[in-house]
Amino acid sequence: MIPRFFKSLYWKISALLLCLFLVIGAVYVYVTVFTAEMFLQETAQQIYQPLAHRLTAEIEPHVGQPGERDSLHQLFLRVRSYNPGLELYFLSPSGEILATSVDHRLAFNTVQLEPVKHFLASKSEDFILGADPCGLVNEKVFSAAPITRGGELVGYVYLIVHGREYDSLDQMLFDSYILRLGARSLLVTLVAAGFVALFVLALLMKKLRTMTAAVKSFEKGNFDSRIAVSSNDEVDELALAFNSMAETIVHHVDRLKEADRQRRELVANISHDLKTPITSIQGYIETLQLKGSSLPEEERSRYLQIIIAGTERLRRLVDQILELSRLEAGHTHPRPEPFSLSELVQDIVQKFQPQAEKHRVRLQTLLPDSVPAVSADIGMIERALQNLIDNALRYTPADGDVVVQLTREGKDVLLEVSDTGQGIPPEDLSHVFDRFYRAEKSRSAELGGTGLGLAIAQRIVEAHGDHLIVRSAVKRGTTFSFHLPLDRPEQAS
Ligand code: ADP
Repeated sequence: MIPRFFKSLYWKISALLLCLFLVIGAVYVYVTVFTAEMFLQETAQQIYQPLAHRLTAEIEPHVGQPGERDSLHQLFLRVRSYNPGLELYFLSPSGEILATSVDHRLAFNTVQLEPVKHFLASKSEDFILGADPCGLVNEKVFSAAPITRGGELVGYVYLIVHGREYDSLDQMLFDSYILRLGARSLLVTLVAAGFVALFVLALLMKKLRTMTAAVKSFEKGNFDSRIAVSSNDEVDELALAFNSMAETIVHHVDRLKEADRQRRELVANISHDLKTPITSIQGYIETLQLKGSSLPEEERSRYLQIIIAGTERLRRLVDQILELSRLEAGHTHPRPEPFSLSELVQDIVQKFQPQAEKHRVRLQTLLPDSVPAVSADIGMIERALQNLIDNALRYTPADGDVVVQLTREGKDVLLEVSDTGQGIPPEDLSHVFDRFYRAEKSRSAELGGTGLGLAIAQRIVEAHGDHLIVRSAVKRGTTFSFHLPLDRPEQAS
């Protein structure tokens, strides 16, 4: 079994690099040695050409003479004594070997003449390999010259250059100082390149390992786990992508947690708010049932009033819960239409006058002479306005003022509901639009509050593209405001 360590990407890439370098090295050495040898042979072919020509003059007198083979053999041995890298042959015009410097048995008795003729025809400029009569290597570099007598061809002098000294490349490599030096330099270069590649690879792997650790830690639930990013290469880009993905996941998890918390809170609030009036209604009904006939008429009617108020409160609460859930689910879409906001404000204020009188609060409007028509869902805006005026009347003590004001602001109309009531403490201001939030819990419940009126008004205003704004000072009063767009802003000036 292969240990896990060696299965790592680092070792796989390292092994691949090693193989690659070995192949490159081998190919490089082979190409270099081969080219060098070819160059040497080409040079040798050029160099021995004059010798071949000179030899023709020495060979010619022996041709056709008795003992030709022996006398030429002696001549060749003499030449070889100061040119040990040569094998000399005398060929007949048809390529038959008539004399040679070689002492042992030859592999072939004839030499293919095509290369010789090609070489002579090219005036010894082309690099051509010819047959080796010794047969050790298929082809070898040679030099040749024709021997003529009285203008007639009597044979060829055929020189195999280098003889058998460099029959193999590795032998040549070990024999050549320059090639050895080149091979060593190549080895050093490859080893250095290998080390640099492994070092770079190790750095990369270190980064990847850090990333893997961070991702695994995140996977195990450590949502704070992030990857430290130092530069901006591709790996860091991946790290950045992970970090931003982690942020998104954390954000969504937080939102889910918050939604879950809100859902629990909502259920608890609804249960609590329903339970209180139901318990009270049940209590009074049971009392009426038990002592109905024995109770004085006044008492009975008071109990009945309380029961009616309780059921009214229940109906209001259920209505508001349904309305808010429809708004939050996005089921209620505003259907904008042009209408006069001044007229709507006056109508609603008129409807609230009896309630204002009951609380002994002055309810007034402050409307400019002409307010152009706005474009909004009239039913929804009426609902939001009712909630704001209702709140203002409930949280303003007797002798206070409630003012509904309209102001033209560019392409919008600003609607403000202000009161001189108890105000909202600063710490509650940011929460008043939350569902079931009541600044003064006992007092709000006492005043019939459900904690849903402002949440509904806010969703309505948001559906119209604005936000409900609250400004308040404790014991001085509160102002709620929002904008509605003019129906024809360009014409209405
Ligand atoms: P509620 O039915 O309790 O009035 P709302 O959502 O309408 O619920 O208001 C939330 C809370 O904001 C109220 O309980 C109250 O404490 C505070 N609030 C709302 N309007 C006013 C106001 N005009 N003056 C003072 N406090 C207010």
